Amino acid sequence: MAGKSNIDNIDEQVIAGFKELNHKCLLQSDALYQYILETNVYPREHECLKELREITEKHPFNLMATPADEGQLINMLIKLINAKNTMEIGVYTGYSLLSTALALPHDGKILAMDVNRQYYEIGLPIIEKAGVAHKIDFREGPALPLLDELIKDESNKGAFDFVFIDADKDNYLNYHKRVIELVKVGGLIGYDNTLWFGSVAYSEDTPMLDFVKYFRTHVLEINKYLANDPRVEICQLPVGDGITLCRRIN
Ligand code: SAM
Ligand code: CA
Repeated sequence: MAGKSNIDNIDEQVIAGFKELNHKCLLQSDALYQYILETNVYPREHECLKELREITEKHPFNLMATPADEGQLINMLIKLINAKNTMEIGVYTGYSLLSTALALPHDGKILAMDVNRQYYEIGLPIIEKAGVAHKIDFREGPALPLLDELIKDESNKGAFDFVFIDADKDNYLNYHKRVIELVKVGGLIGYDNTLWFGSVAYSEDTPMLDFVKYFRTHVLEINKYLANDPRVEICQLPVGDGITLCRRIN
């Protein structure tokens, strides 16, 4: 490499090395991820999101929380598509919910669903402090029957600009079959955790924790389904644990 300045002269071994690294993993180290957070994400994180993140870090199930860089992505997407009417399935303490609420206009709406209201109440005082609680319609209960109710009303069909799905992975396909009717043509659905700790690329006999193995089957199923669904264009991003963006096209 020394002394070579022309891109055409770069050592073939170096090119092969880059290809190998990119192929394996976009982020080469925890230090690189930390760099992204500290350089691009934390300095711009809303003070209430920071407070919510720090409170959630003390909760025993904090592994479920949306990471700050993904919250930043959601915030950007909502603004780019000028979303106004949105839905979230799987709230936990509300990091993605607050990211959404802060990005929406003052009269924007989020229909938020979770089986567990207690988790939502951990973050609620912070959401109220941020001045965006009026945008949220929280419904406690399993999402599937709630979606079935929504679909019965014709006026809800095509009424949503953005839907973020981050609940029970074994229901993702069931959610998709309903949400696809509720999101408008041109609207966006985000399916979270579609790389499932990287396990989607493991072979069947790779040793895995039971919960990883169980949900992996369902994540593989939804990934395959989305890749072949002509009603959506898709984009799989390796942000967080993987998010698949689906833009409804018909
Ligand atoms: N989006 C959240 C955030 O930003 O922190 C994380 C959501 S967490 C990964 C998954 C949530 O889905 C949990 O709070 C859980 O209670 C909820 N959940 C699980 N099964 C559900 C169901 N059938 N219907 C609605 N919510 C469900
Ligand atoms: Ca998630």
